Amino acid sequence: MDLSVVVPAYNEADSLPELAEWIRNVCSSSSIDYEIIVIDDGSNDNTWKVLQELSLKDKNVRAVRFRRNYGKAAALQTGFSEASGDVVITMDADLQDSPDEIPELVKMIRDEGYHIVSGWKKKRYDPLIKRTTSKFYNLTARRFSGIRLHDFNCGLKAYDAEVVKSIEVFGEMHRYIPMLAREAGFSRIGEKIVQHRARKYGVTKYGLDRFLKGYLDLLTIGFITRFGKSPMHFFGMLGTLMFMTGFIMAGYLGARKLIFINQHLRAPLVTDSPWFYIALAVMIIGSFLFLTGFLAELVNRRSSERNRYLIREKLNFRN
Ligand code: UDP
Ligand code: MG
Repeated sequence: MDLSVVVPAYNEADSLPELAEWIRNVCSSSSIDYEIIVIDDGSNDNTWKVLQELSLKDKNVRAVRFRRNYGKAAALQTGFSEASGDVVITMDADLQDSPDEIPELVKMIRDEGYHIVSGWKKKRYDPLIKRTTSKFYNLTARRFSGIRLHDFNCGLKAYDAEVVKSIEVFGEMHRYIPMLAREAGFSRIGEKIVQHRARKYGVTKYGLDRFLKGYLDLLTIGFITRFGKSPMHFFGMLGTLMFMTGFIMAGYLGARKLIFINQHLRAPLVTDSPWFYIALAVMIIGSFLFLTGFLAELVNRRSSERNRYLIREKLNFRN
């Protein structure tokens, strides 16, 4: 199969028939052999009923129904593991992304050798507050990751199937798939300016808290990419540095005391100096950081992921 279109849908009953129809028109006119995988993310409207009807009418429509609402990342991950196309395209269910982009996206993955092509909603039809915060957010993400994308969180993205079979999206990490993919060794990340439209039916599923959460997730992912495999390098380093600093301060205070005594002068109490307390605090915090690193290493060691490597190719092996 050429293409799997993965569509996460949470209460999108009104949009889905139109979306499926549109995808079918586009794909059949450019003779792309496709499937649509819709994940009903625990909707409490008619979404599942609509999907049942669609799937009866059109065998290219496949659907998975979650028992409850798990979030977009979970929906995407499930779609990824069900997908059997050579190219996988993700698309929001709300008709904000245009299926007209499909043929070009497929071409970029199949013929131009991109691992990922991310949509860029250059002209956006979203509320002002979302457009501005999103600009800011994308700037940070770019700086942070070094990946030159204008629109990290665009729902419309195309992937080489190998990418989606190699990464794991969970929590709210759907915003960072390009980073996850690059971490997995897929570095050819491209961008395509795509049409964007205002939401036609229904309402957005996210509130303002998405911006704060987005930033926290960015920190998490930056940290995990850099230190996930060897947390001791971070905590141990910081902990050791802090402990040493405190130790030197305390040593200085102690030495000063000894010198005073040695010269038979009346020595000030070590505890009179504020540095004593600072040294104490810094040493304690340093030890805790060190211990944290140690615990994190223990957790890693027991993880089933510890020896998971992505193999690209093999030669002279039997299977
Ligand atoms: N979505 C989902 N589960 C959720 C929230 C959203 O599957 O818990 C889907 C939603 O149905 C839509 C896509 O994710 O297809 C993007 O959501 P939305 O359009 O509400 O986000 P926005 O366009 O406002 O960023
Ligand atoms: Mg939307």
